[in-house]
Parts: sequence; structure tokens; C-alpha cells
Amino acid sequence: MGKPTGFLEFERELPKKRSIDERLKDYREIETAPTDSNSKQQAARCMDCGIPFCHNGCPLGNIIPEFNDAVYDENWGLAYEILASTNNFPEFTGRICPAPCEASCVLGINKPPVAIEYIEKSIIEKAFELGLVKPRIPKTRTGKRVAVVGSGPAGMAAAYQLNQAGHSVVLLERADRIGGLVRYGIPDFKLDKGIIDRRMAVMEAEGVEFRTGVNVGVDIKAEELQNEFDAVLLTVGSTVPRDVKIQGRQFKGVHFAMEFLSQQNKRVAGIDRVVDHRGATYANGEILATDKHVVVIGGGDTGSDCVGTSGRHGAKSVTQIELMPIPPKDRDASTPWPNWPMMLRTSTSHEEGCDRHWSINTKEFIGDENGNLTALKIVDLDWQKDPETGRMQMREVDGSERTIPCDLAFLAAGFLHPQQEGLLSDLDLEFDERGNIKTNGYQSTSNEKVFAAGDCRRGQSLVVWAISEGREAARSVDEYLMGESFLEAKAVSMLNPVFAHA
Ligand SMILES: Cc1cc2nc3c(=O)[nH]c(=O)nc-3n(C[C@H](O)[C@H](O)[C@H](O)COP(=O)(O)OP(=O)(O)OC[C@H]3O[C@@H](n4cnc5c(N)ncnc54)[C@H](O)[C@@H]3O)c2cc1C
Ligand code: SF4
Repeated sequence: MGKPTGFLEFERELPKKRSIDERLKDYREIETAPTDSNSKQQAARCMDCGIPFCHNGCPLGNIIPEFNDAVYDENWGLAYEILASTNNFPEFTGRICPAPCEASCVLGINKPPVAIEYIEKSIIEKAFELGLVKPRIPKTRTGKRVAVVGSGPAGMAAAYQLNQAGHSVVLLERADRIGGLVRYGIPDFKLDKGIIDRRMAVMEAEGVEFRTGVNVGVDIKAEELQNEFDAVLLTVGSTVPRDVKIQGRQFKGVHFAMEFLSQQNKRVAGIDRVVDHRGATYANGEILATDKHVVVIGGGDTGSDCVGTSGRHGAKSVTQIELMPIPPKDRDASTPWPNWPMMLRTSTSHEEGCDRHWSINTKEFIGDENGNLTALKIVDLDWQKDPETGRMQMREVDGSERTIPCDLAFLAAGFLHPQQEGLLSDLDLEFDERGNIKTNGYQSTSNEKVFAAGDCRRGQSLVVWAISEGREAARSVDEYLMGESFLEAKAVSMLNPVFAHA
């Protein structure tokens, strides 16, 4: 334990954010860089608990008290070794993880929890600054070839691990750049894309081969893939969005959230730029929120990212509506510590300006004679528990139907499952009841050479879970190829149902 009285002396302090005025003018990261003295002070708050619930709360089983201690001692090399032993990409999770570890931190019972995510970010940024993140080139090669299809965090983590085990790994991606939703979903103001490029350079030096612009199933057929490689790991994500199939869906101005978010990230990356009538630089012919009334349908992370992006475009108004009732402002009695608390969350994008409403259903998209969206018809909902089944049931509130102005509607109602037609059906894969790839552990139930991990197996989830799944699947592939595996053991919290929500 670094400082026995640290948790009594110091308050929880998070990285400073740039002012709203300043950050709405650009797409640079909102958080400022951590400072050594602040990281040390925050690490000093850790009590080095006999039973560290934080460690169990993290899907990766991060060894949190030990790296907190090393940071307090300013032993950045040790802190980095401990962190890197369970997490391939702390530079991702240190920026955008909702931090289930903090929700289960023991200090959180009666004080604000240890700022674990912040400490994680400080360790990895310091490690890069000090040149500690060096390529680790495997000493021997097994001669086995593995194809990893899909380069999101699950695919990247699996490729990293399998390469370390000595296999020759090719990471195939249909987009023009590596990173999956971290590249083309999560906005730059949450995670700068140079962070992915920096990590890719290390992995390339270690021997991972990246191939972009390859739509597997089309450019390389399923049969070819199986003939060319000793094992195939699918990390293709959950890419089919949930639609809102109501009257007026065809109007110009109704878009899936990902259409909007991915094109914005491409603009920031300088792909397909043109200068518009106001002198601003944008991609050709695409979705602009500038001077528009924007309504985001769906209250999760994806919706919040549409809010932040619309604000940066200079929208006339930004409204976010959600079907479910407003969650409690504080931790609810139904989710006591150390469970993940069901409570109201306000993101940095919400802080920047947004009208938020809950218990609202969208009835109709309304448009003009030119086919352009002009308004939404909505209605208030009353949610009540059914006394017989105990399930929540919704009822429209009489007389609450109304229209609100809307030139752009973003559908952010979640994702259903991976794209099944094409590659997955050509590989003869089975699907579970939610339409995800059905596996036994991480191995496909119907094709023993094929494995799956991340959102395509688990359903829409989080980056930390994608990394965890990628690591676990890599171990299964390694066992399949070699009969045994020395890759990292299972994440500890796989045994713990508390975070099964994520
Ligand atoms: C807008 C948005 C914001 C989010 N924000 C957060 C956040 O703040 N924090 C957090 O923890 N999580 C967040 N998430 C969730 C997180 O991004 C995902 O859970 C995670 O990226 C899943 O990783 P994955 O590797 O399984 O799949 P993905 O990241 O979806 O990657 C799958 C990749 O497979 C590729 N692919 C698919 N089919 C093929 C094919 N046939 N051939 C070749 N390549 C193919 C796709 O192009 C894609 O690059 C967010 C998600 C979205 C949509
Ligand atoms: S639960 Fe909190 S206080 Fe305890 S070891 Fe983990 S981070 Fe430190």
C-alpha cells in the first residue's frame, strides 16, 4: 500500500477537461493529459484491499492495487508491466471505458472511488513517453497461420496474443483503416485516432500483418480462407443496426447513427474532403447537422456521440429521446455495491448542450412534399410493473401526442447481431437465439476450425469486453493448434456474473 492515509487526505480528482466553448470548435480530445503528481496522488487513495473488488469488477482482471502501488512509488516500468500483463490496449480503455472496476472499488462504499481509469491512462501514456512500449518480437515461430477477420479491439487483441504465441497472424479488415468501431464509431473527441496508429506500429514491428480493404467472404471466399489458414478467428462485430420501422422512415434526413459518426471520423482523418459554402471542410455530399434541428432516438453511448458531433457541426437544436424511463440520479437500491449501478449518466457530450427526454415513443417521421424530414410525432409513455408477470409494461399517455421540429433524425437504438449473410453463412455457422455466432467457449459449434470473439459472439458490448474476448479466444485458438496454450489465463471476472450486463 503506497500511502496508508492517502484515502483520508486526498479527494478523487479526474483529468481536467477543456472548456465547452473551446472544445465545440474542434474534434480534439476533451481531456487534458494527466500529470505525474496528480496520478501519484490519485494512486495514493488506493487502500490495497485484502479482497480487491476492483480487480474482480474489471472484465480483464486488471491487477489494480499493484499498479496503483507502483505509480505511487513512481516506478512507471513496473506499473506498465503489471498493466500490460492483462490489458493489450490500456490507451483505449484508459480513455473510453465506463470503468466497472471503479463501480466495485471498496472505497466507493462511502467515498468517491479510486480514479482507476485515469491512473491506467497515466501509466500507458508515461510508458510510451519513456520508450517502455517496445515491440516484443517472438523468438520462435510455430509455422501455423491464423486469419483474424475484423480489426476492432477484439481482433486487435487476439492478433496481438496469437502473434506473441509464435503464430503468423494476418488481420483482415474490410474498411480502409484498422480499428473497427474504435476507428469509425467512437468520435475523435473521445479517442484520437493517432492512438490506434501508434499501437499498430508496435504490432507491425512485432510481426502482425494488417490487410485493409479486404471484404472477407467477397474478396476472399470462405473456402479459400479455410484452405489458406490453419485457423480462422471471426471478430466481425455486431454491425446490423436496429431500425425504427414507422411511417415516414423513407424521408431524407432519417439516418442510422453510424452513417453520421463514421463519415465524421473520416472527415477528421482528411478522407474525401471538400470545402462547403461556408468555407468549412467536409466530405462530399454527406450528412451535416449545421443549422438543423437534430433529434437522436436512443439514449446510449452511440446516441451521446451523435449529440457531441451535432454540437460541433453547429446544430440549431439537439434533442435526445429515450423509450425507457429516466434512471435514478444515484445508485439505486436494486443495484447495490459492488454491482454495476443502474443510474443516470451524463456524458461530456450531454454537458455541451442537449435536451434529454425519457419515456418517449416515436410514432411517425413527418416530411414535406420534397421528401425532406421536417418533424417527429412523439408520445409520452407511462411505465408500470405488470402485477402478474412482474415485467415493466408501457402505455401511451392520453393526450400527450405532439410533433417536434426535426430536420435530422439519428437512429441510435442499438445493434441486433453480426451480418449473417455472406461470410458467416458460407462458413456454415450456427447462430444463437439473438442471432450472434453460436460457440462452445470461443469455438464455433458447427465448424471446428472457426472461432469467434467480441460483439459478433457476445452481442453489442464494450471495448473492455472485446479485448477480454479477443484474449480468451486467442488462447482457445492456440490450444486448438498446439494442444496446449501458455497465453494468459482466463479473465477473473468471467466467473463473476455481476457484470453480465456489459
Ligand atoms: C458509436 C459507438 C460508440 C461507442 N462508445 C463506446 C465507449 O465509449 N466505450 C466502450 O467501451 N464501448 C463503446 N462502444 C462499443 C465498442 O466500440 C464495441 O463494443 C467494440 O468496438 C466491439 O469490438 P469488436 O472488435 O467486437 O467489433 P468492432 O469494433 O465492431 O469491429 C469489427 C470489425 O470487423 C470488420 N468486418 C466485419 N465484417 C467483415 C468482413 N466480412 N471482412 C473484413 N472485415 C469485416 C468491420 O469493418 C469492423 O472493423 C461504442 C460503440 C459505438 C457504435
Ligand atoms: S477496491 Fe479500490 S481501494 Fe481497494 S484495492 Fe481496488 S482500487 Fe484500491
